[in-house]
Amino acid sequence: MDHSATTPVAAEVLEAMLPYFSDKFGNASSLHGFGREAREALEESRQKVARLLNADPGEIVFTSGGTESDNLALRGIAYKNRNSGRHIITSQIEHPAILETCRSLEREGFTVTYLPVNREGLIELSELERTIRPDTILISIMHANNEVGTIQPLEEVGRLAADRDIYLHTDAVQTVGKIPVDVEAMGADLLSLSAHKLYGPKGVGALFIRRGTKIQSLATGGGHERNLRSGTENVAGIVGLARAADLAREEMAAEGHRLVELRDRLAELVLGRVKDAWINGSMEKRLPGSLNLGFSYVEGESLLLYLDSKGIAVSTGSACSSHKLEPSHVLLALGLRPEQCHGSLRITMGRSNNQEQVDYVADCIAEAVERFRMMSPLGRDEGRK
Ligand SMILES: *Cc1c(COP(=O)(O)O)cnc(C)c1O
Repeated sequence: MDHSATTPVAAEVLEAMLPYFSDKFGNASSLHGFGREAREALEESRQKVARLLNADPGEIVFTSGGTESDNLALRGIAYKNRNSGRHIITSQIEHPAILETCRSLEREGFTVTYLPVNREGLIELSELERTIRPDTILISIMHANNEVGTIQPLEEVGRLAADRDIYLHTDAVQTVGKIPVDVEAMGADLLSLSAHKLYGPKGVGALFIRRGTKIQSLATGGGHERNLRSGTENVAGIVGLARAADLAREEMAAEGHRLVELRDRLAELVLGRVKDAWINGSMEKRLPGSLNLGFSYVEGESLLLYLDSKGIAVSTGSACSSHKLEPSHVLLALGLRPEQCHGSLRITMGRSNNQEQVDYVADCIAEAVERFRMMSPLGRDEGRK
């Protein structure tokens, strides 16, 4: 129940990768047969990933994952276009791979506007429009949020950006493979994705870069990936990403419906049994398997550990920030009070979940909340009313 943190490698993906760890070990830059075999696998993979995004294979650069793709997009555009302007627009609820990169760019002389979001986690387009300046070079808005699952109106953002000749990047790590992602419809110039969020291996991802985009590479070296990402390609990982992309294209529609049903069932069961509980984020514009629940008078952390003892893996906030004790920056931006943030739980379902599990999870959550409220003076008193 924590698929937004990572997903298991699909059996088909593992099977596709294995030969590239043994017989087919060639370096894709070598001219001999071993190298050509690896090069062919690499280019075939590029086509598959491009197909999932409605992009051209020549617009896909393979990276080590979402974090590197985000860094290459932001820094690459900023450094190459600094003479046209130094203003970047993003949102307050981005993944740390975006937020920390923006903070780093601020220290290097760029100016960043962090757009607020409403209670559902959506940016306001009028606010975005007001924020655009003559020196704005890049807008980076995530497609869907990893903590609450809210899906942003990227097509509208794309139109605003295109009208003004501003580059648009989107961190689509949470949407690629889950819902249709079409770089043409979005008007995105750059898009980040990561294999391990769609049943592929960890440590591999891609950045879509629209043809003609002015971007600087961050790594100097042998000039791999059209000179944008030097370093011998991770052929096995890339083959795995491509197989995962193909599987996602086949299963997306049916799996999406299934997950919406599971998610809504879980919400209904929990909210029906636990009072002083609520859903964080948007009800309509939300990822199929994502549910972020808030509970008064309990610590999400305690719930998480209790559920873990019952064999259920969930998270508070995101996997990337859960080692911190500060309330989630995403929930704070949605307008929750710090104590409300601390009582929140992120449940993200995927291929391995079924209805029986959902019913079990609902039972365990209801049990846990009741137990912890009994132990908290505030919860006990409120419960008596
Ligand atoms: C997981 C995630 C990332 C980071 O991807 P890695 O491949 O783990 O580096 C970036 N953005 C979002 C929205 C994510 O969910």
